[in-house]
Amino acid sequence: MPEGDTIFRSARALNRALAGKIVTRFETAYAHLATVDDDKKIAGRTVERVEARGKWLLMYLSDDLVLVTHMRMNGSWHLYRTGERWRRPRRDMRIMIETADWSAVGFTVPVAEFHSAASLLRKTMIPALGPDLLKQDFDIARAVAGIQEHADEQIAEVLLNQRVMAGVGNVYKSETCFMCGVNPFWQVRTLDPSQLEQLVFMARKFLSLHVAEDVDGEISTYAGLRRTTNTADRSARLWVYGRAGKPCRRCGTPIEMRKQGSGARTTFWCPTCQPI
Ligand SMILES: [Zn+2]
Repeated sequence: MPEGDTIFRSARALNRALAGKIVTRFETAYAHLATVDDDKKIAGRTVERVEARGKWLLMYLSDDLVLVTHMRMNGSWHLYRTGERWRRPRRDMRIMIETADWSAVGFTVPVAEFHSAASLLRKTMIPALGPDLLKQDFDIARAVAGIQEHADEQIAEVLLNQRVMAGVGNVYKSETCFMCGVNPFWQVRTLDPSQLEQLVFMARKFLSLHVAEDVDGEISTYAGLRRTTNTADRSARLWVYGRAGKPCRRCGTPIEMRKQGSGARTTFWCPTCQPI
């Protein structure tokens, strides 16, 4: 199942490609969406922004229309250059939104609805998102307080919780803990505020660097969130992620790996630099 942080990056990629652009074509395999399109014409509207809220993806269109989707197990959004060959068969397409330059295609997206701002407010199952690490006005103290509300949970799990803080993905979860010398399995309650501040600061730094890298790279798609260029260079720069059994770049101890949490996400750490 796509995790919250994956949806978050997917939304960010869609936002970067589509925000401010006019929809030139809309197609859907869903009758209930086609009916809305008949009445309210999606083509001609401007995509205002795309955002993630937990595992929901919200696409805001001009004139008070929001396309709300949920990926469940198999759904995904891909982003293609207009006219580019899709990597999934057309029969899997449920929604397609096209602008002059980009096609956003929702494949086997099981939940899709149009909302107005008012009807969206009534949809209480869509969670609020935590503070976005990349926003200018990001408040470290608020994020630290948010983490401390999960005192009994493991720190790496909380770093991934997009309702606490939005933006940290599975790679930077491990990298951030390593940089701060924090064992990813420690409970939040065992960390003091200055350590939490350091973690948030480091996560933010990683994320800003990652975004800066993305600027001249290709815009990520849902299917291929990693850049297709310089992949080798980038992995060479990672401290622990994907390096199970290889020597720690600081101390030489073999890096360990374990599935962690309810989502069984892979966690990498150095048992010497990040002792229990
Ligand atoms: Zn080490």
